Amino acid sequence: MKLSFFGADQCVTGSCHCLEINGKTILVDCGLQQGRDEISNEEFPFNPAGVDYVLVTHAHIDHSGRIPKLIRQGFHGEILTTRLTADLMRIMLLDSAHIQEQDAEWKNRKGERAGRAPVEPLYTIEDAQKVAEYLKTCEYDEEINLCEGVRVKFSDAGHLLGSASIWMDLNEGGVEKTIVFSGDIGNVDQPIIRDPVHFHGADYVVMESTYGDRNHTEVWSYTDDLAKIIDETMARGGNVVIPSFAVGRTQELLYFIREIKDKKMVKSNPNFPVYIDSPLARQATQIFTGNLHGYLDEAALKLVADGTNMFNFTNLRMTETVDESRALNEDRTPKVIISASGMCDAGRIRHHLKHNLWRPECTVAFVGYQGEGTLGRLLLNGAESVKMFGEEITVRAKIVNYTGLSSHADRDHLLSWISDIKEPKPQHVFVVHGDREVAPFFAQTIQGMGFTAHAPQYTEVYDLASCQQLQTGYLPERKAKVVEGTKVSSAYERLVAVGQLVVEAIKRAKKRDNKSLAAFADQLKKVLEKWEA
Ligand SMILES: [Zn+2]
Repeated sequence: MKLSFFGADQCVTGSCHCLEINGKTILVDCGLQQGRDEISNEEFPFNPAGVDYVLVTHAHIDHSGRIPKLIRQGFHGEILTTRLTADLMRIMLLDSAHIQEQDAEWKNRKGERAGRAPVEPLYTIEDAQKVAEYLKTCEYDEEINLCEGVRVKFSDAGHLLGSASIWMDLNEGGVEKTIVFSGDIGNVDQPIIRDPVHFHGADYVVMESTYGDRNHTEVWSYTDDLAKIIDETMARGGNVVIPSFAVGRTQELLYFIREIKDKKMVKSNPNFPVYIDSPLARQATQIFTGNLHGYLDEAALKLVADGTNMFNFTNLRMTETVDESRALNEDRTPKVIISASGMCDAGRIRHHLKHNLWRPECTVAFVGYQGEGTLGRLLLNGAESVKMFGEEITVRAKIVNYTGLSSHADRDHLLSWISDIKEPKPQHVFVVHGDREVAPFFAQTIQGMGFTAHAPQYTEVYDLASCQQLQTGYLPERKAKVVEGTKVSSAYERLVAVGQLVVEAIKRAKKRDNKSLAAFADQLKKVLEKWEA
């Protein structure tokens, strides 16, 4: 009964955990490494042909994006996930394969001129199409006998349509253990989907910690604040550009904008045009309007029952071709442009940023987590200019962080989720899916609540029967990511992250007594004086 850590270990992408029991090998997630995380996507630290099952918590690429690669390298087992995750995964993996093919083609065009040998894409569209042959689906809370000594159940994680936490009951040679893989835990009160399910007991927990060091700031009124941003920008004659994940976040935005339009909340331009500039977002929106029985929250169910199309309103346009996308930037009518990718590191959004960042009348509204080293993070950190497509672009547009929208539980909700697991209280909690500065910090936080916990490193192995570490892991070396010429050192990024921790600690200290607040302030001041000296 062994558990190995093969991804999202002290980082937020590439989720992959491996359970070995009764001669079977079960992966929980098989995600793609994205951004600056330094583990290669090319090689698996295990034999893909030896994997019997892949259980997928949800369709996001950092949890499912390496499955076509797994098949390409010999996997021929079974993939199990919820019905809606399966639907979303099909379109998302095809989109990902398309990007992989384009990427290889681009490298090869350059490589040929430089006399280099051609490279192969990580996987092809054909590989992604094969995933369907191995897919089996289930519904929430259906108990499944996966194989000898393994029962599994998917429960709503409230993070994305179809997303799940996976509960497993394990029995090997008479030793019985239960384990919960949290998957990505959703935020509460998100539109469309339900709140995450809490568990009441487990011997082991593998839990995410994306926001383990901070709380979402004051709860925004989604529609009021978004309407205000749009109204002010329209009045200035500018565009609102929203970098957004095509699947999930974009549909939430459509849901709010429908309400904003219904209530005529944008006074300066009640009929403002909205463009969804992402073919993937268009396909995903179709899935969001399909058979969602068993997947929606009450407000959404009521809309469906009333015959309202949750994601449609007047003046909504979906662009398909690159030409249509380009035309958006030539036409100066104020509009809302929602485009991918969410962190601005690829895709059509980069063109929209190039054409709008320098215009003071425009607004760029961030609606999701911006990973370290991404262009999105740079802009949020207040970059005065950025280099894009070899050009220096001055940042004059208003940059707004619409933090109310998050598909991840914040620190307090993560703590409430884990503290509900008490009968039995876990023997050990493995903290994964958090940045290098965050995951160990969150493990410490829950240690303070009486849990035994740590943040595993890549390739670490644990024996679940005896609750012992069998093999230590390592943290891959990180290199500074170059965002088109703007070099951000990882030491600097770490400093920014620690600075954010300090700000969070200050916010949490609000209710502490004056004496300790004064002492804390003195300590911080001393550190600063020493640094500046
Ligand atoms: Zn996710």
